[in-house]
Amino acid sequence: MTRAADLRRESVNGLVVAAHRRHYGVDLDDGGGMIECVLKGRTTTLACGDRVEVVREARGGVIVGVAPRRSLLYRSDAFNEKLIAANVTQVLGVVAPDVPVDEHLLNRWIVAAEAERCRFLLVVNKSDLPGAARFAERFAQYAALGYRTVRVSAKGDVSPLASWLRGEHSVIVGQSGMGKSTLINALLPGTNARTGELSEALRSGRHTTTAAMLYRLPGDDGWIVDSPGMKVFGLAHCTQEVITGAFVDLRELVSHCRFRDCRHISEPDCAVRAAVAEGRVTPQRVALLQTLLRESAAARDPAR
Ligand code: GDP
Ligand code: ZN
Repeated sequence: MTRAADLRRESVNGLVVAAHRRHYGVDLDDGGGMIECVLKGRTTTLACGDRVEVVREARGGVIVGVAPRRSLLYRSDAFNEKLIAANVTQVLGVVAPDVPVDEHLLNRWIVAAEAERCRFLLVVNKSDLPGAARFAERFAQYAALGYRTVRVSAKGDVSPLASWLRGEHSVIVGQSGMGKSTLINALLPGTNARTGELSEALRSGRHTTTAAMLYRLPGDDGWIVDSPGMKVFGLAHCTQEVITGAFVDLRELVSHCRFRDCRHISEPDCAVRAAVAEGRVTPQRVALLQTLLRESAAARDPAR
């Protein structure tokens, strides 16, 4: 028997539930539980949500195969790409009334979600706080674009959000202090003790920074990934077309600009500026698009 066939015979499929550098926690399909695995070779990186094929070893396992991905959410700058999660179906952006919201960052999450054809859901947390209703009104513009807003209190009732998670593969993103950890704990009461242990193992010792973690939902009806370090969210991997395509209110319009690479600044026959002049599109949306395009161009070509 060839070595490849030999490997396949002994291999088990599983789901990546923790990722840190090149160390992965894999939850095996055969009920064998979670083991720590390494990925041989330097060409690929994996993320939580990846379906993999593992060969067991005395301590842990070796990942020998990765299934094709439905989607791959990541952030990037000119030098680095950071995978967030694979096979995601929706992105949950969490905001709260007691922490200043970086809306530019929020819009980057939306672009990243749209780029991978994932649903974006805005989660307005801490709705128990005074002023929460007024705070939520600030996000009406996102609802107008088609992004659903779910109001919850991580310290109270999280059922409005829970129903959106069923059967979905979600990633939760948010600035520090918005209540992501509290939300995850509320959504997953006591079901993830083992994941927690593995998380501790991956996060301790030689792994000084935090690891991304995948949590299965009750009844194994979907999962949710919590990934650290979302303060910056570069979109260097997104082309001008991808970024423009993420603007649901502008993407059809731009096809009517005279120039395909129109930046909607001073070009003649610009359909976007015409729409602004007629009040069909807000200047803020166009400014945001221009900023993201400029940043992306700079990140893709740092020498410019
Ligand atoms: P993270 O940095 O996004 O993970 O935020 P945490 O989960 O650590 O929460 C930040 C702070 O907000 C903590 O003091 C939480 O107790 C508090 N918090 C989280 N959710 C809620 C909520 O729904 N209501 C209120 N009042 N406080 C909350
Ligand atoms: Zn234009």
